Formats: sequence, C-alpha cells, structure tokens
Amino acid sequence: MLTTRNPHETWKQFLEFVEERCSAAEFENWLAPIKVIEGSSEEIALEVPNIFVREYLLDNYKKDLCSFLPLKENGELAIRFIIAEPKKKETVVAPPPTEPEEQQYLFHTDLRLNQTYTFENFIEGPSNQFVKSAAMGVANRPSRSYNPLFIHGGVGLGKTHLLHGIGHFIKHHHKKLRIQCITTEGFINDLVDSLRNKSVDRMKKYYRALDVLLVDDIQFLQSRLNFEEEFCNTFESLINQNKQIIITSDKAPGQLKLSERMIARMEWGLVAHIGVPDLETRVAILQHKAEQRGIRLSNKIAFYIAERIFNNVRQLEGALNRLSAYCRLMNSDLSEEIVEKTLAEMFQHKPQKKISVESILKTVAAIYDLRVSDLKGTTRTKEIAFARQVAMYLAKELINESLVKLAASFGGKTHSTLLHAWKKIAEQIEKDDMLKRQIQLTRRNIEA
Ligand code: ADP
Ligand code: MG
Repeated sequence: MLTTRNPHETWKQFLEFVEERCSAAEFENWLAPIKVIEGSSEEIALEVPNIFVREYLLDNYKKDLCSFLPLKENGELAIRFIIAEPKKKETVVAPPPTEPEEQQYLFHTDLRLNQTYTFENFIEGPSNQFVKSAAMGVANRPSRSYNPLFIHGGVGLGKTHLLHGIGHFIKHHHKKLRIQCITTEGFINDLVDSLRNKSVDRMKKYYRALDVLLVDDIQFLQSRLNFEEEFCNTFESLINQNKQIIITSDKAPGQLKLSERMIARMEWGLVAHIGVPDLETRVAILQHKAEQRGIRLSNKIAFYIAERIFNNVRQLEGALNRLSAYCRLMNSDLSEEIVEKTLAEMFQHKPQKKISVESILKTVAAIYDLRVSDLKGTTRTKEIAFARQVAMYLAKELINESLVKLAASFGGKTHSTLLHAWKKIAEQIEKDDMLKRQIQLTRRNIEA
C-alpha cells in the first residue's frame, strides 16, 4: 500500500508538489480551497467548492494524484468528492462591484483543457483512425466540414482526449474563434446557478455567442428534461448561425434516451464511433505514455500488459501509474515479475472472447440451478426473477449491443425491463459483498 500516512499529511505533500508546478493564482483559486474531510489508506474524501474545481483537479493532476493518493484495485483514484454547501451570502455589507460586468459571470467562461490531451499525444490505430481524422477535419475547418461532429464509444477510449485535442488545435490555429469546452454536467450546473442568480439571459447570450462549442458526455442529459430543452435551444441557435458543435457520448445518438428532436439534431452531421484499440495500438499507447512519464518499458513488458488489459485505455494508464509509483518507491527497474505482482488484479482474464446472451443465460442457469427457458420466460417467482436480473445485468455489462436487442434476446423483453434489472443489481452489488463475489464468479465462468 502506498499511503499509510495520515491523509492530511498526504494531501499537504501533494500540494507542496503542485505548488512548485503551477502559478500562484492557479494555486489560490483552484487548489487551496480543497479540503480533506477524511481519509484512510483506502480512500480519501475531499471537499471542493464546486464541480469545476473537481474537474480542474482531475483534468490537470490526475497522474500526480495517482502517485500520492490511494488507488482502487483497477488503478483509478480512490477519491470521494464532496461538493461544499454554498455559503449563505452576507447581505449587509456587500461591496459595490468593482470589476467590469463581464468578469462577474458566475458560470465559467475560461477555456480549460487538459494539457496532455492533444492530437500529437493521441495514438492512432484501426479502431480510431476514422474518428481522429474527422476530429482533425473539424479542427482544421470549423463549421466547414461536419456539423455537428458526434463522437461515441465506450469508457476510457479517448473521447475526451479527442474533444480537447480539437480545442487545443482551434485555440492555436484559429485564434479569433470564441471556443468553449464544457461537460454536460457543467452546462447543467451553469444553468442551475444562472437560474438561482437570475442571470439566465446572460448565460444564454454567452453560449450563443460562441463560435465553437465542445460538449463532453452528452449522455448525462438523459432524463434531465428541463435542461434538455435549454440545451437543445442553445444547440439549434448555434447550428443555425453555422457555428461548430462537437459532442461526445458513451452511446450512439439513437440509443440515448433523449427527445427525438435532440437525437435528430445530433445525427445531422457526422456520427463517428471510437472503438477498442487492437493489441499493437495498445502497445503503442503504453509506450508513448511510459515515455512521457520517463519510465523505461521494454517491448516484451508492454505486450505483456497490453495482452492483459484490453478494453479501456484509461486502465492501461492506471497500470502505468501503479508501476511508476512502485518503481519510485522501491527504486527499482521493471521486471515481468514486478509487473505481474503489481498488476495482477487489474488483469482481465481471457482476451476478447465473443460473449453471447445465450452463453450468459446458460451459465447463469447452471449456477442458479434453473433452466434457460425459465430465464427467458415470464415467471416471477423470487429465485427466477432474481437470476433473470443477474443475467440481464451481465448482458449489459459484457455485451456491447443496444439494450433493445439485448432485451429481445431474453424472450422479447423491453429495454426498460433490462435497464431496470441492470440498475437494481448494480445498486445491490454496491451494498452486498456476497452478491458481488457471486457475480464475479459467474462472470469468470462466462468469460472462461
Ligand atoms: P473517454 O472520455 O472516452 O472515457 P478519455 O479521453 O478520458 O476517455 O481517455 C482516457 C485516457 O486514455 C486518457 O488519459 C487518454 O489520454 C488516454 N487515451 C485514450 N485513447 C488514447 C489514444 N488513442 N492515444 C493516447 N492516449 C489515449
Ligand atoms: Mg470522457
């Protein structure tokens, strides 16, 4: 374990480390307001004044945080963020505004991009060549190639990276263009704040005066009806003025639970999918990232890791972070043995076996001592219904297919039934360790 020290001490060390690497203003505005609420060697809880601070921290210092703070088994940071309650405004002695009105926007107007998410740092392979060239096309000729550009794909495959890449490129090559990059959560929060501060008109005006709008993770707009409408209006207003919009999402437009109007708008331009990188690309990514971190990684070891972590680039990075922390701590070079020992629990089992609903049904039926026809049927006895939900959960987890199709393979269920089952099991796993292990076991059987 890397951090057995007191969390306040760990945090202080992290701050000292960062303080030398950022401007004083940046430090004061972004880092100093973060408070450690509690922590152990397994997790640390940080209080941040708002989600932008959280995003800023993760966007800019994720790698460094990984070396200082506790990590989860998958190599991700074990940080819990708590958004501070907004302070009640003192109404008595409010000082008169001294700054020009522009400066007082309560929503954020500065462009914040992760410095490392550039096109140069984005490694190309067959799975992402198309989407990368689409992104570069848009960055070269904003509003004159595809509009909107819609990028979708699974978690950790480089959507945000490409989005910021477009941002960097436009910032450098089209200096006059007003550009903003937001997460969908950020947009919603801006809107909530503006409503509270009665500055919605200003916010609308601000967004609608942009030349390029980059929107990350549009899936968070699902089931946020009021916000969806406002977003859609902003979207239309920009597109009508021929302003460039780029959107990322974890699903294709048609699979998002959004209004038909919104989906149709997003399909107007180019929809590009970003897939899981093949082995060679994963190796190239690993080597590129290792070089950036100053780690020496032999080809053999790169292949060894890339063969075992295969569907998420972020996890590949997590693996490197772990290795680099280990080597720094132990002051040693990397050997296959060290890699095996440090990363064992991150390794996935069989690489890329094609999993079908049928194979899930068979395994689940065998484990719960039922028949496949029970799982496909409509009987609602407790045991059968539960096993069915487990199978549905696993289908959504393990198979990259539309919910509608998956649900249909369960004897013609609806996608909302499947989604409901998935949610229920996902929530229970969080609370129930036994169930978690049971499902891990089932999963391993399916993948075997
Ligand atoms: P997503 O937004 O799709 O969940 P991110 O863009 O956050 O994924 O990518 C996760 C991590 O993987 C980032 O650190 C990113 O730099 C890295 N990454 C993903 N794809 C590539 C690639 N093709 N080349 C280099 N780094 C990549
Ligand atoms: Mg992302």
